[in-house]
Amino acid sequence: MTRYNELQSDMVYAKQAFLLMQKYTISPAPENYAVWFHYAMGDNKDLVREVDNVINNNLEFTQVTCSYFHNKFIMATRNQKMVDEAAMSAQKIISEVLKVINEFGSETQSYHQDVDGYLTTISAQAESSGIGAVVKDLISATSNLKKKSESINKKLEESSQEITTLKKDLKQVTIEAQRDFLTGVYNRKTFEKYVDDQIEIARLKGNQDLCLMMIDIDHFKQFNDRFGHLLGDEVLKIVAKTLTEILKGRDIVARFGGEEFVVVLPETPIEGAMKVAEMTRLAIAGKELKRKDTGENYGSITVSMGVSRFRPETDTLPLLIKRADDALYASKHNGRNRATRES
Ligand code: GH3
Ligand code: MG
Ligand code: MG
Repeated sequence: MTRYNELQSDMVYAKQAFLLMQKYTISPAPENYAVWFHYAMGDNKDLVREVDNVINNNLEFTQVTCSYFHNKFIMATRNQKMVDEAAMSAQKIISEVLKVINEFGSETQSYHQDVDGYLTTISAQAESSGIGAVVKDLISATSNLKKKSESINKKLEESSQEITTLKKDLKQVTIEAQRDFLTGVYNRKTFEKYVDDQIEIARLKGNQDLCLMMIDIDHFKQFNDRFGHLLGDEVLKIVAKTLTEILKGRDIVARFGGEEFVVVLPETPIEGAMKVAEMTRLAIAGKELKRKDTGENYGSITVSMGVSRFRPETDTLPLLIKRADDALYASKHNGRNRATRES
């Protein structure tokens, strides 16, 4: 396809994307546009299937649904690209190492052949006076090989160091792609992937003991206004740490956005999830926020929570999130610093 033709067909997808966004009243944010452009293009079968699923079931494209699609199909692909690139450099270094090893193999092979040749010559010339010359050749062949093997060893050592660095980088990239940069808990993309897998397992088993807990810090804007954003960030870290310490086994915590966290509790009945919520609430409310160096006291903060339980027959991730969010809203409405289960 020429560059011009490519542009023409991209324009067609772009127009289709806008028309579809208009039709389903999607906000014209760049993230949403990316999703609908790929939907119009049809290059990602899973994306098309999931969007069609929402359309065919007459479900609403809420903000939660839209960002779910963006995270799952646009962001995830981008992160995967980063990991793929790192893996490709690893592949390149490994093939260079293999080349060096092969080179080394053929060097030693030709040395063996040389030695074999000299030995034949030695026995043939043993009685004559040619031995001295053969030994000289043998010594020089050996010293050549020694030099080569030294340089090959050096190359191998360098490559092995590069591989070690690359392995570290790859690990770092993988961790960074999964985590929230401020609090270190999982990011929203990882949360969605994890809960998608857990939903699949629960659906196969017909199991409803999969719960979701949404957590939102109370009056956090006030806290920021009073003490500044940097201190606000410290509070986010404290909440994340407290959650991590309370959770066990297959439970995971992720930053859902801003001052909101989400916890996935697989194999947990809703009564159990409510107990975890209560423990979390008490642990956070009981923390006295103090500045270490000056001892200055910032009081304490509270959180509100909403808990939803998976419904194997009808549920989708956006619906599960929505019910937890509604329950969270009820907690706020009823005075904050509490946990509410879905109605
Ligand atoms: P509510 O009890 O109703 O949840 O009140 P709220 O003030 O917590 O809620 P609102 O949604 O009005 O404000 C959320 C605030 O969270 C806005 C912003 O100041 C703060 N916030 C969001 N993300 C961050 C962040 O990354 N760092 C800091 N320091 N503050 C953040
Ligand atoms: Mg909030
Ligand atoms: Mg809040």
